[in-house]
Amino acid sequence: MGALEIFFFPVMAHGHMIPVLDMAKLFAFRGVHSTIITTPLNAHAFAKGVEKTNDLGFHMSLEILEFPKVEGLPEDCENADQIADSALLPAFFAATRMLRDQLEQLLQERRPNCLVCDMFFPWAVDLAAGLNIPTLVFHGSGFFASCAGEQMRLQRPYKGLKNDSDEFVLPNLPHKVKFCLSQIPLHERTEENSVFAKTLIEAKESELRSLGVVVNSFYELEPDYADHYRNVLKRKAWHIGPVSLCNRSFEEKAQRGKRAAISEDECLKWLDSKSVNSVVYVCFGSISKFPSKQLHEIAVGLEASEQQFIWVVRRTGDEEIEDWMPEGFEERTKGRGLMIRGWAPQVMILDHEAVGGFVTHCGWNSTLEGIAAGVPMVTWPSFAEQFYNEKLITDVLRIGVAVGAKEWVVGTGGGNVKRDAVEKAVRSIIVGEEAEERRNKCKGLKEMARKAIEEGGSSHSDLSALIQELSSYSS
Ligand code: UDP
Repeated sequence: MGALEIFFFPVMAHGHMIPVLDMAKLFAFRGVHSTIITTPLNAHAFAKGVEKTNDLGFHMSLEILEFPKVEGLPEDCENADQIADSALLPAFFAATRMLRDQLEQLLQERRPNCLVCDMFFPWAVDLAAGLNIPTLVFHGSGFFASCAGEQMRLQRPYKGLKNDSDEFVLPNLPHKVKFCLSQIPLHERTEENSVFAKTLIEAKESELRSLGVVVNSFYELEPDYADHYRNVLKRKAWHIGPVSLCNRSFEEKAQRGKRAAISEDECLKWLDSKSVNSVVYVCFGSISKFPSKQLHEIAVGLEASEQQFIWVVRRTGDEEIEDWMPEGFEERTKGRGLMIRGWAPQVMILDHEAVGGFVTHCGWNSTLEGIAAGVPMVTWPSFAEQFYNEKLITDVLRIGVAVGAKEWVVGTGGGNVKRDAVEKAVRSIIVGEEAEERRNKCKGLKEMARKAIEEGGSSHSDLSALIQELSSYSS
């Protein structure tokens, strides 16, 4: 039999495209022919990775589908992070559903051995099944969040609670984890029937019709939850991460997703001038943005913490307007603070020994990149499964402190976290005995992460098992 052909079809959002590119590379490094399916304006995010993998003698390619035009969506909008207003999300998902015919034609022509399908494309799982092409689902989250999300959906432990601040314990999980009502997505607590809510239900259902789930995590990070997912929730899953660790060179770490808004060399030079574990890196992922009021509180809190920082600043509305900046802020923090207005070379920054703390929105990629780099975290979730990831970091792994975000809001934080909370959390992640303890735990996890992806490691072995299983369907 020839090499396995696997197609990867990530939703057009950097939080899914970046790990899928890494995943496709990992398969290619094992002799699989990996093909990524995307749309014209997203192709550049994959092009370099594909080219480099081929230069190394492995086999990777891109297939481009035309992004459908739908009413209400701006012409050049092909990526979720271009959506400024969450009211446009239904139009975006409607457009992705219209990719169906093009995908069908491609699958019919090429007949890959497997389609790794994004959870946001449940329709594609059924389409592939109709063509007798096995599918795997990719959610972009870890085991803890998948278990917590599923138990939340099944148990609805918040039923009967009325006030946003009412707390409850999520039952049936290996640890006792508490949430408050306002941390649960509105579409879940109100059983609202939005396009987004429907897509999530369809995703859960289609997952059960697939071969199983590929998880960007490693067993040693969340063993209780990897077991719970498989044994209690009865899901078939393969853990193959942290996938970001397939990026070994400076260039690969520095250039992921988009072009950085700062020269990588300049950023590296700045970091090189700082001592070990002395810099806090502040970044909220590819989608989250804050209103001026919240940015102002962050600026004042960061300054008051007296710590050195790299801050990736993204504002809702007109990015050029910097009305949030305290007077004289840049002059006073000169030398100890570096602001990046736009995209940061995140993995390169996190991997630098000067970085000793990460203020994160708890997106799963950022969380895992922080863990793989051995960096303790200040957690500041706002939507998706970020509140679950926060609990994993703070309550289960105990490698982070919560800033105190309480409100589930898509894309934009409401601006409710005060300067004192920022100051306190930032200082406590760098300074003191507890900071040292967290740092030591992080060091251990960093080592485990590296071992997991090396030959004989848990993720390496699970990837081998997956490739073997897929080969057995094709022989
Ligand atoms: N990222 C980056 N530079 C930025 C912002 C984000 O490289 O300025 C990358 C980050 O390393 C991660 C991804 O974008 O791989 C964001 O994914 P995550 O799951 O953390 O959050 P999302 O963007 O999906 O909310």
